[in-house]
Amino acid sequence: MTLLKSWVDSANNADTDFPLNNLPYGVFSVTDGDARCGVAIGDMILDMYAAEEQGVIDLTDEPLFDVPFWNELMEQGPAVWAALRARLTDLLAENATERGLVEPLLVPMADATLHMPLVVSEFTDFYAGRHHATNVGTMFRGAENALPPNWLHIPIGYNGRASSVVVSGTDVRRPWGQLKSPDHDKPAFLPCRRFDLELELGAIVGMASDGPISVDEADAAIFGYVLLNDWSARDIQAWEYQPLGPFQAKATATSVSPWIVTKAALEPFRTNTPEREFELLDHLKDTRPMLYDIDLSVTLAPAGKKASTIAETNYNQMYYSAAQQLAHHSTSGCPMNVGDLLGSGTISGPTKPERGSLLELSWGGKEPLTLDTGDTRTFLEDGDTLTLAGHAAGTGYRIGFGTCTGTILPALSDPYAR
Ligand code: CA
Repeated sequence: MTLLKSWVDSANNADTDFPLNNLPYGVFSVTDGDARCGVAIGDMILDMYAAEEQGVIDLTDEPLFDVPFWNELMEQGPAVWAALRARLTDLLAENATERGLVEPLLVPMADATLHMPLVVSEFTDFYAGRHHATNVGTMFRGAENALPPNWLHIPIGYNGRASSVVVSGTDVRRPWGQLKSPDHDKPAFLPCRRFDLELELGAIVGMASDGPISVDEADAAIFGYVLLNDWSARDIQAWEYQPLGPFQAKATATSVSPWIVTKAALEPFRTNTPEREFELLDHLKDTRPMLYDIDLSVTLAPAGKKASTIAETNYNQMYYSAAQQLAHHSTSGCPMNVGDLLGSGTISGPTKPERGSLLELSWGGKEPLTLDTGDTRTFLEDGDTLTLAGHAAGTGYRIGFGTCTGTILPALSDPYAR
């Protein structure tokens, strides 16, 4: 696959995240206008509300873009997803005959505010990166018990909260919580001292199901992917996580990137899950490559200072694909809904610079990181801005996710003050 050329010049730059091959879906507003659906192309956004109202996009009897979220399009199913992508590709291609109709519907991205691209129905987060699970397990339970006995057989997850999912750019306030350090004999209610990020990819379910589905059916049901930062309070987590797993440690916020990169755009970048030491049960087996080759990075900028790259890894490091996670999620008969968001789990590679959390990068706070600015970090400090970025690299083009950022606000002085 090579670059598909567009009449939007900025979409033809080799380093744009948003060439014609990508066409990711977001929600934007300009000045005091209403939020509406848009499609990124180069440094512009195609206004889908206006495109539909003017008949340039006309896929269904009922309008799809009179609402500021993509769930209605998702509910139409894969045939309409494909028809929309084909229509957008025609309208924006180099020699498009309808350029004159489309050009007035473009808005400069620099003038736009980006919003949540979907209504998140429910949020589930997995723990499916082998290097991450091994690192964290080693710190929490020792190298001998790093991976729990089930880990190589099922993708471990927990049911999170849709209510705490926020769009990139939303500030994140350091939480308070109950913690207990091993050198204190009593728990205390304090501001989190070990606030952390988790580099993840989120899969968005685009087709509902009601009963067990196969890995192939699960793959077909996935609409697209976003960058996802699962903010984590490690000191709260260490005290609360047994026996039911994380709860308040993961409930402050989860940030997602504003652009949904469709499964269709990522198709040329499929890759296999890794070699396994135990054969998976049949209902969880891959039938074809289900992961994607997506380069990922994390930068940290202390307040008022320049950003340093603290981690670089790839989504191909996952042990389980989103399709396997979704198939496993459905095995009990759990109904899955359009707009469900599945976090991949923290993505870490085998070497230290590939670790997708500060917990791993600073090895539980024992090995502080030195940033390019000379500042050191074990965990996040107030005012730090974290930015995730990712793209799949093609020849002369890339399928980018844009960025997913968040800045840490100080804890409230008294969380119960009224
Ligand atoms: Ca997580």
